[in-house]
Amino acid sequence: MIIRPRSDAVTPAQDLVAFFCPVCYDGLMNRRNYQREMLRIIERQGDARPRLLLHVCCGPCSSSVLERLTPYFRLTLLWYNPNIYPESEFIRRRETLEKLVSDMGLSEKVEFLFEEHRSAEYYERVRGLENEPEGGARCTACFRLRLEETARLAREQGFDYFCTTLTLSRHKDAVRINALAEEIAAREGVRWLPSDFKKQDGENRSIELCERYDVYRQLYCGCEYSYLRRLEGGGQATGPRPAPSA
Ligand code: SF4
Repeated sequence: MIIRPRSDAVTPAQDLVAFFCPVCYDGLMNRRNYQREMLRIIERQGDARPRLLLHVCCGPCSSSVLERLTPYFRLTLLWYNPNIYPESEFIRRRETLEKLVSDMGLSEKVEFLFEEHRSAEYYERVRGLENEPEGGARCTACFRLRLEETARLAREQGFDYFCTTLTLSRHKDAVRINALAEEIAAREGVRWLPSDFKKQDGENRSIELCERYDVYRQLYCGCEYSYLRRLEGGGQATGPRPAPSA
């Protein structure tokens, strides 16, 4: 069973369609296909390689996204994840990303922009939303915080686009992330690269790459609340993981 946010109001039948055929699901739900929109942008740009500021949430989610984007963009990877708890996990995930980029032979092709662990920024944003379920309003605030920082830096540093790896996971709602990003892009005056990286087998490809490069795959989404939920035996692992049987 695919776990979706409650706001999607997806029936079990629609869930099954989504699992076996994401394209049919989009038609059924009258949803935009963000991945197809991204491919059209790439096609139109020809040999140009625009500068893209890519927010990266973790190594596993970055793997197939990097493979997909590096031929078409000059990438800078932004590590801004104040949601991650505790500090030791923040460091472990950042080091995992650095090692993966090196192991994939991409060190010469991408640049890094590392932000400190400014967890106060996260707690400020999610105040009052601590008890929200995963996929609820706390996650929307968490996405918004990270997208706003990415867009702000993209504008300040003259990038052509900004984007995030967050849509790679089946637990993250690509419609919500793209809608938030488009709203922020309009406000900041910087272009958002529409995307849904789980499409075109993106998540399975990440699983393959994680196995090949022996990448640490975290067992909870990232924040203190998802960590505690996991300790209680619930919650969602983040990043690409083999699909549970339907
Ligand atoms: S569960 Fe994940 S997306 Fe939601 S608030 Fe926590 S870290 Fe952010």
